[in-house]
Amino acid sequence: MSTSEAPIVIVGTGLAGYTLAREIRKYDKSTSILMITADDGNSYSKPILSTGFQKEKTPDELVQFQADVMAERLDVELLTRSCVTGIDSESKQVLLDDERVSYNRLILACGASAIRLNLSGDGLKHVYSINNLMDYRAFRHALVGVDRVAIMGAGLIGCEFANDLRSGGYNVNVIAPSESVMPGLLPPIVGDRVIQSLRDEGVCFHLGVVVERIDETSDGLSLYLNSGEILEVDRVISAVGLRPNTVIAAEAGLDVAHGICVNRRLETSLPDIYALGDCAEVDGHVLPYVQPLMSCARALAKTLTGEPTDISYGAMPVMVKTPCCPTAAYPPPADVHGSWHVERASEDIKALFRGDDDKLLGFAITGEFMNEKQALTKELPPIHN
Ligand SMILES: Cc1cc2nc3c(=O)[nH]c(=O)nc-3n(C[C@H](O)[C@H](O)[C@H](O)COP(=O)(O)OP(=O)(O)OC[C@H]3O[C@@H](n4cnc5c(N)ncnc54)[C@H](O)[C@@H]3O)c2cc1C
Repeated sequence: MSTSEAPIVIVGTGLAGYTLAREIRKYDKSTSILMITADDGNSYSKPILSTGFQKEKTPDELVQFQADVMAERLDVELLTRSCVTGIDSESKQVLLDDERVSYNRLILACGASAIRLNLSGDGLKHVYSINNLMDYRAFRHALVGVDRVAIMGAGLIGCEFANDLRSGGYNVNVIAPSESVMPGLLPPIVGDRVIQSLRDEGVCFHLGVVVERIDETSDGLSLYLNSGEILEVDRVISAVGLRPNTVIAAEAGLDVAHGICVNRRLETSLPDIYALGDCAEVDGHVLPYVQPLMSCARALAKTLTGEPTDISYGAMPVMVKTPCCPTAAYPPPADVHGSWHVERASEDIKALFRGDDDKLLGFAITGEFMNEKQALTKELPPIHN
């Protein structure tokens, strides 16, 4: 097959891959598209994974469409449980173990992987990272008959799972090295408000400490903290962060920094190869959230169907799914000068980060201030014009 007859190949069937295919089909019903995924290809909305108990959904109920239904609806060929192991950009082929598949254009939508801590002990098989529906299914299965869960990490995902597991009736301990929660997203005063709400729900926090060792006992697991404390639990979630999947891109010679580097047209450093979603670093920004990848998918679909389109991001605040303390935040860029200004109404907090020229550059709001989210977002400068 000549590469001009070869399909558009999309690696990954997460929200980025499937949204891109859906967007392409709005403009082009006939170009062949081949989607390749290492997982089962079922479509689901990843953010829902940390709300399973609140929504009273089993993992199977979180599947929106089975893989074969997606393939038919999008009119694509779909290879599931197939891992792309390399890219030959000279011959425009991707490598699948011992097979080679030609592409006309290649899109990397291969997500990110959970970071695993290097811990000691014989209980590590009971530590779960939850970054896709298959992980979540395994974790829910492991919860049957037990009720004590420890969560390592107090970022967005750790806090959301803490709230959700409490809703499911579990006894929850959160352990993290930071002094407050979501330090990358919230100023401490707002993080402390979230902690208080989760404590009121019954979540226990162990902050400023880390887990060093996990051992199996006759009755569950012993978690040894560096403070000397020992926690007795049944299962552990590791929610210590994600790392963009860049290995195959780097091995193929694509520019990689924190993610796979792409410009605002989502082009990598090699011709006819693009990237979007959690694996991508778009013009210097790694934004592992749904809204940015949707914007990227819309722009890239236009580019691939003949209307070259640059991505332009507005400011996109993050909603934290902790119903005990509804929170939204948009952290200020790391390199700006300014200060936080805090207003309270009863227990709710509005924290605004203003630059030296008094311009709003970031915010974090809880509770009744959530109704100001839209107005505050409009006041923020866009990430890209
Ligand atoms: C618990 C949780 C809650 C979240 N909540 C929110 C939220 O409330 N709001 C928000 O905006 N964001 C949220 N996020 C983040 C958001 O869900 C992600 O940014 C988004 O789903 C990433 O989609 P993706 O398609 O880029 O990656 P993924 O969904 O990870 O998809 C990657 C795909 O690539 C495939 N793949 C990887 N490597 C290979 C390979 N070598 N060969 C073949 N296939 C491969 C995988 O099998 C998979 O199909 C949350 C994330 C988690 C984990």
